[in-house]
Amino acid sequence: MKVPFVDLKIQYKSLKQEIDAAIFNCLENVNFVGGNAVSKFEKEFARYLGVQHCIGCGNGTDALELALRAAGIGYGDEVIVPAVSWISTSETVSSLGATPIFVDIHPIYYTIDYSKIEEKITVKTKAIIPVHLYGLAADMGSIMHLAKKHKLMVIEDCAHAHGAELDGQKIGSFGDLACFSFYPGKNLGAYGDGGAVVTNNNEFADQMRAYANHGQLIKHDHLMEGRNSRLDTIQAAILTVKLKYLDEWNDLRMQHALYYNELLRHEKIVCPVLPENGRHVFHIYALKIAHRDEVIDELALTGIEASVHYPVALPFLKPYQKFNYSSIDFPNAHDISSQFISLPMYPELTNTQIEYVASSVLKIVK
Ligand SMILES: *Cc1c(COP(=O)(O)O)cnc(C)c1O
Repeated sequence: MKVPFVDLKIQYKSLKQEIDAAIFNCLENVNFVGGNAVSKFEKEFARYLGVQHCIGCGNGTDALELALRAAGIGYGDEVIVPAVSWISTSETVSSLGATPIFVDIHPIYYTIDYSKIEEKITVKTKAIIPVHLYGLAADMGSIMHLAKKHKLMVIEDCAHAHGAELDGQKIGSFGDLACFSFYPGKNLGAYGDGGAVVTNNNEFADQMRAYANHGQLIKHDHLMEGRNSRLDTIQAAILTVKLKYLDEWNDLRMQHALYYNELLRHEKIVCPVLPENGRHVFHIYALKIAHRDEVIDELALTGIEASVHYPVALPFLKPYQKFNYSSIDFPNAHDISSQFISLPMYPELTNTQIEYVASSVLKIVK
């Protein structure tokens, strides 16, 4: 049996008629940049999240840059980020001349460890970027409280967590700004690059919309210099079709995760923890396991494609070696990164596939 890490083809096949019609409609209307398809998606995604504004942009990395810029982050500032994420979370901070200040992750939830944030706050600290890693909401109640106390902006990185909830509220609606990626493999993925920033702040919304379109809100009225980062029209049309199915897909991911958890009960395996007060959307189903690399190689021999998110924690990547961090600075991030393994996870996964993956993992660890 073959079990790929993700399978975007089954999903396309199941929506082919709707997706093809949406793309064809853009072609027929010769509508390639901006237009109704983009504003329709922006409105529907904002409504889905329960926020005022959604600004489409080129990709999730640009979304973070736009949000940081709107939050006024610039040269000499410090921004707190978790030690485990995709590099976009920290590289966008550096791209604006600010410094990413890494905070260790929680040993059980793997999101930023709230209890270790305050000791990293200095007079230069301007913002916190919590990442809802793997689809589990970061501890937003505590983070918002801390941000208020120290007058810091909060920019949520929601690239793993479209549709995740905390206390009945959608992630993306907690912070001052929140960023999404629509990279194809994400829970809500386009058929190319795409991203969005959401906010309830009117000024931020106007500023980001203008900046992402050469500083214009109205054509030829350049309020500032900006750049070009727009959500592609065809991608917006595809995303509008897919948004209708997001909740259904997230429910399936949750069911698969519960089934994995049930089958993988073993003293040498640590399964993901489910939140009591929220909705995990399992963008990634990650186990903690010894000899991770050997397990991946052996799974590959049985036709199962596993992956790692992420093999090296951010502070230990080459661009940050200048900070001379050692493992004792981020003990959880350092230790857990070498044990993470991501198993196949996508809505269309079958129970037979899950059983095959689980039994193969158990055979290897025994
Ligand atoms: C995917 C991702 C991004 C960036 O998204 P792109 O659309 O690929 O630029 C940012 N943060 C995290 C945590 C991600 O996983």
